[in-house]
Amino acid sequence: MTPLFDPLFFSAVALDVLACARFSPEAIEVRQRFRLAKLVGAAARGSLLYSERLPKSPELLPLRALPIIDKRELMDRFDDWVVDSRLNLADLRTFVAQPQRIAEPYLNTYLVWESSGTGHQPGLFVQDARALAVYDALEALRRSVPRVVQRWMDPLLVTERIAFVGAIGGHFASVVSMQRLCRASPWLAHSFRFFSILEPMDVLMAQLNEFAPTVLATYPTMAVLIADAAARGALRCRPKEVWCGGETLSCSARHRVESALDCTLLNSYGASEFLSIGWECRHGQMHANTDWLILEPIDERGRPTPPGEASHSTLLTNLANHVQPLIRYDLGDQIMIHPDPCACGVTLPVITVKGRRDDPLIMDGRGAQVVTLLPLALTTVLEDEAGVFDFQLCQRDARTLVLRLSLFGAQGEDAADRCRKALLSFAEVQGLAPISILIELGQDLPRGNSGKAQRIVAMRP
Ligand SMILES: [Zn+2]
Repeated sequence: MTPLFDPLFFSAVALDVLACARFSPEAIEVRQRFRLAKLVGAAARGSLLYSERLPKSPELLPLRALPIIDKRELMDRFDDWVVDSRLNLADLRTFVAQPQRIAEPYLNTYLVWESSGTGHQPGLFVQDARALAVYDALEALRRSVPRVVQRWMDPLLVTERIAFVGAIGGHFASVVSMQRLCRASPWLAHSFRFFSILEPMDVLMAQLNEFAPTVLATYPTMAVLIADAAARGALRCRPKEVWCGGETLSCSARHRVESALDCTLLNSYGASEFLSIGWECRHGQMHANTDWLILEPIDERGRPTPPGEASHSTLLTNLANHVQPLIRYDLGDQIMIHPDPCACGVTLPVITVKGRRDDPLIMDGRGAQVVTLLPLALTTVLEDEAGVFDFQLCQRDARTLVLRLSLFGAQGEDAADRCRKALLSFAEVQGLAPISILIELGQDLPRGNSGKAQRIVAMRP
């Protein structure tokens, strides 16, 4: 048996996960409180870093009385953060530098993955069998099923051909967890195939045409590129389902993928810090798994953002992982918790994910003041108004933006015109001083190590 699977604990968690989605919010809160007290106790006893940072008797205090902690502080003191003294950053970095060891049990006990390193050093996350059982149960039991008859006849996905298109050369959460599934369930190994986003587009399309997947799992930006390839005839197969995650999915990107591929798109919200934060119900709403995590939307000063308002960032408390405790961890994502329950009957709260907190662009205004452009606004302008999805917008100085597009030729020129118009009119409305927009066509757009596109890049001091 694989050391990364605890069947007894998994069964108990699975039953609870099934029942909990229909429990009252109060019953879910009781579970949260119980699991939080256990987590905080484990952190105070086992983690040197938390024993210093947490107040006395933290189990008795409300969550809001506990300190906020960010990735930089945790990663800087990694060896003091983790509760198992056999774990240390230097050895783990050596481990994740070896691609042939993806999804290999570390110390025969842990599954390890890294996150991309935008802004500072990459994060490293260690999960034990108990945390994995929680992620497994949430992933398996909380998702809407677009093809009910198909799933009923083939619950184990044996007849599916699932193409994962992503960054497959590194120890990233998505590929590690899928490779682990294949190692643990040999029948799945035949259903899954892994494709690298680093391949040139025509090579990738040829590979997909040959495999003819029934399910495509990838990032939203990549799904749009594949949908465009289908529209121009380069992709001949038509997957029935597209599973997206890892980046923000806009309405226009969803529409583009669903209409070009004639498929159902299932979006999910996860992070290296918690694999399965949210899932889409049959009403198309994103429910947060608040029986196993706590999300606190906050404003710029760390104060709680009320339901119905978009946050500046979000604090995550992971109730499943006691090895590497995350309590009020600044996730950097902007979310909104909906005030009303969903009509589907699931009582878990509905959230809208507004996106990762990229660097905002600080530009010169028409007067003496500066104007801040939010990355979410800029991507929305380019996607919704200019209809361009594969781009990178970089700030060169306080009055110059460089827009890189993968398109070229006449198509590229058209897209460049639309983008320039959309950006200039947005700049005008925002009160910017006259700006220059330089457009570079036919660019190979950089993605982070983890394969996620970095689309808005501020000028570095
Ligand atoms: Zn719902």
